[in-house]
Amino acid sequence: MSLYRDDGIVLRTHKLGEADRIVTVLTRRTGKIRGVAKGVRRTTSRFGARLEPFTHVDVQLHTGRTLDVITQAETIRPYGEPLVADYPRYTAGVAMLETADKLIMDEKEPALRQFLLLVGGLRTLGSGEHEPRLVLDAYFLRSLAVAGYAPALETCARCRTPAVRAFAIVAGGVVCGACRPAGAAVPEGETLALMTALLKGDWVTADASGARHRAECSGLVAAYLQWHLEHGIRSLRHVEREPAS
Ligand SMILES: [Zn+2]
Repeated sequence: MSLYRDDGIVLRTHKLGEADRIVTVLTRRTGKIRGVAKGVRRTTSRFGARLEPFTHVDVQLHTGRTLDVITQAETIRPYGEPLVADYPRYTAGVAMLETADKLIMDEKEPALRQFLLLVGGLRTLGSGEHEPRLVLDAYFLRSLAVAGYAPALETCARCRTPAVRAFAIVAGGVVCGACRPAGAAVPEGETLALMTALLKGDWVTADASGARHRAECSGLVAAYLQWHLEHGIRSLRHVEREPAS
C-alpha cells in the first residue's frame, strides 16, 4: 500500500456499514478522491467532525484495492461554519459542492483550477460581501468555463456577429436574429451584462445590478448549467430566489 497526502474541500459523505463513511474530497493536487473514514460515526472517532462537507482538510490516505482509506485528517478551515446559520448562504454552498462533484467526473485527475474556484467561492459566500445568489451564479459560470462550457455572451455563439438578439442554451449562449433557434429566451441587455460581469469577476457591476436582472440571470444560468450536466442539480431547487420586481 502506498501513502499520499493532500488538502482539499469535503464535497460529500455517505454511510458505509455500521460506523464508516465514504468521503468525497476535491483536493488541490490529486483532483477528486473518495476515501473510507473508518469508525467516523462513533462518538470516539479521532476524525470527529473534520470530515464534514464544506471543511477544508489536510488528509493522508492509504491506497487501497478498491477504495483508499483515510488515515489522518486535520482541519485547515471550516468553511461551513459561517454558512449554517444563514439558509440562503447554506443552500448556495450546498449547490456549489454538488456542482463541483458533478462537473468533475473523473477521480484522481488533477483539477487545480476547479479546486481554487471552489475555495474562492466558499470563502466569498462565507464573508457575506455579496448576495449569495450572485456568488453562486458567478461560481456556476466560472466552473462551467473551466470545464470548457463557457457561454458566448458578447458575440453570436454560431456566427460571431456582435449584433445579438437572444440567448439559446442549445446554441451555447447568445445568438443573432439569423441564427436564433425556436424557443430561445430574449433576456434584457442588463441581464447579459450581469452574466458577463459574473463570469469575469467584475463585482462592482454585479453588486450594482437590479433584482429583476439578477432573477433573469439566475434562471438562464441554472438552465444552462443543468443542460450541460447529465442530471439536474437537485440542491438548486432549495436555493431561494429573489422575487422579481
Ligand atoms: Zn449568428
